[in-house]
Amino acid sequence: MNKGLLVVISAPSGGGKGTILKELFARNENMRFSVSATTRAPRPGEVDGVDYYFVTREQFEDMIREGKMLEYTQYLGNYYGTPRGPVEDWTAQGYDVVLEIEVQGGSQIKAKVPECVSVFILPPSMQVLSKRLHGRGTEDEETVQKRLKKAIQEIPHAKDYDYIVFNDRLEDAVEDVQAILRAEKLKYEKNIESVERVLNDAETV
Ligand code: ADP
Ligand code: 5GP
Repeated sequence: MNKGLLVVISAPSGGGKGTILKELFARNENMRFSVSATTRAPRPGEVDGVDYYFVTREQFEDMIREGKMLEYTQYLGNYYGTPRGPVEDWTAQGYDVVLEIEVQGGSQIKAKVPECVSVFILPPSMQVLSKRLHGRGTEDEETVQKRLKKAIQEIPHAKDYDYIVFNDRLEDAVEDVQAILRAEKLKYEKNIESVERVLNDAETV
């Protein structure tokens, strides 16, 4: 069985990661979401163990010490990190595993797992990003402003990603991510066994 893809998706806050991923998961049964651990407080509607594992700073630091994090970082004063176990188990079982993480974590993953596929989602403009963040209505004005400032620091890191997806029309953005994943699965390195199988069959013709 082929190993699943390790897919890193990053975008500035409000860039549309969550919205695009919801559509992708509805369309792909073979995909698993890596649930991150964080020390930030849950937003209304977020469920522990589904959206994040909500933990204390002490619990997070224990996980770091015990080597349980594949990557981690601090973002606007809170820890965020990817628990190693599920990612390794699921990719070995052939599932495509999606990490929805920010740019520092994205570069840690690229360094550790160079064969991962990384996608940066870009909003059409800062004005649209601001409108979407305000429209989401999940943060107070001060936090929205912090996230917009942070976006300006994050967007230059797009250069370290394999692909850029423009999130203007949602449907186009989802189709583009689907196309990337399809193409990644067709790379020669991922299909060496199939090529060999066809060649071995040739002896029986
Ligand atoms: P992120 O997960 O990157 O922080 P979200 O997926 O929560 O971003 O998107 C931020 C807001 O923008 C949400 O209210 C979402 O409904 C809206 N949004 C996302 N993508 C689009 C799009 N293509 N067109 C219009 N609104 C969008
Ligand atoms: P939010 O608070 O909006 O859920 O997330 C803030 C930022 O942290 C987003 O850019 C999100 O993608 C990122 N993030 C979420 N989980 C992780 C993680 O496990 N590791 C890293 N490095 N970033 C994460």
